[in-house]
Formats: sequence, C-alpha cells, structure tokens
Amino acid sequence: MRLRVLGSSGGYPIPGNPCSGFLLESGESKLWIDAGNGTFAELQRVADFTRLDALVLSHVHADHCADVFPLYVAIRYGVGGGFRLPLYCPPGTRETLAPLLLEGGWEQLGEAFDFHTVEAGDTVEIAGVRLRFLRMDHPAHTLGIRAETAEGTLTYSADTHTGADLAGFATGSDLLLCEATYQEGKVGGPVHLTARQAGDTARRAGVRELALTHVWPTLEPQISLEEARATAGGLLVRWAKPGEVFGVGE
Ligand SMILES: [Zn+2]
Ligand SMILES: [Zn+2]
Repeated sequence: MRLRVLGSSGGYPIPGNPCSGFLLESGESKLWIDAGNGTFAELQRVADFTRLDALVLSHVHADHCADVFPLYVAIRYGVGGGFRLPLYCPPGTRETLAPLLLEGGWEQLGEAFDFHTVEAGDTVEIAGVRLRFLRMDHPAHTLGIRAETAEGTLTYSADTHTGADLAGFATGSDLLLCEATYQEGKVGGPVHLTARQAGDTARRAGVRELALTHVWPTLEPQISLEEARATAGGLLVRWAKPGEVFGVGE
C-alpha cells in the first residue's frame, strides 16, 4: 500500500502546496482521501479520476473538500456515460455542499457522485481496502480514517484536537498521518494539534512511522519535525511534503 501526498497545507493553500489531499493505492485500487483546494490538479498528474474507486472526505471544511466542485464539473460535463464516482463522507456533507451549486444542487451532485454517508464505528470495504472511522474533536462532523489491507494499515487523523482517542484508533498502524497544525507557542487554538501532541499520539499508538500533515502555512515544517521527534519516542517522523510517497506496511 502506498500513500501519495497531493497537498498538506493546513487551513489555506500556498504556492507549491495545496490543502489536504492524499491518494491511497493498493494494487489496482485507488482511493482519494480529502479533496482540499488544489488537490484535483495534482491528482490528475498521477491518476485518471475516472478510474478511482472512491473519494473519501473527512469533513466539509473547505481545505478538505473544496475540490469536489471542479471534480463535479469534470465528471458532469466531461465524462458522460452515466459515470458517478462513489463518495464516502460524514453525515450532512451533501446538505452542506449542495447550496453552492444553487437551485437543484442536491440532484446535480447526485448526477456526479454516488453518496455513501458513514459514521464513527462503521466499517466499509472499497476495492479490497477496509475503512473504519472515528469521530474526531473538531467543530465540523469530522471522521478520522483507518485503512487496512493485507499489506498494511494507515490511520489518518483528519483535523482534531486532543479530545478523541486517536492513539487507541491508530494502535499498531504502519503509518499515522497526523495533523500537526501548530508549534509550541505558535498560532494555537482548541481545534487542532501541535507537533508535540502529534508525536506523543504516535508514540502512545505504537505506530511504525509518523507523517506530519496540515502544518500551518506560516510555520516551518522542519521545526514541526523537531518538536514531534521530541515526543515520538524515537520512531521515524517525516513531513507529508507535497509529492512525497509513503510506503505503508509490506
Ligand atoms: Zn483543515
Ligand atoms: Zn477542519
């Protein structure tokens, strides 16, 4: 299994780094996880969007879902043949997105996407990849995602503060893709994690590797890495740099 970083900028995109988006590949299976601003263009460098098995959205903050709209246009007006992309998302996603397509938005979205609403505790299998979900500590209805195949296990924090049992959910994962929005004394707020908290979570979960994502755009990722390594108990910590590909398991 491989995880390719399409973008990892926290909150808003910057030159060279779109917002959150990842391509999970296992054999012939391809799952696009989060569609933050700018990730659809990056996805097209490496995959045919009509051959994806699904798009999975963690929550409806724009930095994780805004590219649903250009994707909608590409499918509705560019593909044809009744193609609809399976879209897995938390409750309320379609209701939140539809008004931006104005009148009839609900039905129009349904012409491009086959919606599947998922909640914490659900298990779904998509093209041989088993997904489980955890409700995160974040203002929107946000789902952390655990993806398992025979090859390995990836856990993605989505956006969260410390009030969810992310360490328990991620236990034994090969890779924890964890948000690390803030640094010590830099920015901060009760809806995201610091790099130190991400490192501590990875250590408690006993994962093999930690990838830091969603670093706030004005912060230097190298410092986030140093702060996460200070609490991660010696495990491998890397930044989810745009374009980077992480091996997950075998
Ligand atoms: Zn975010
Ligand atoms: Zn968010």
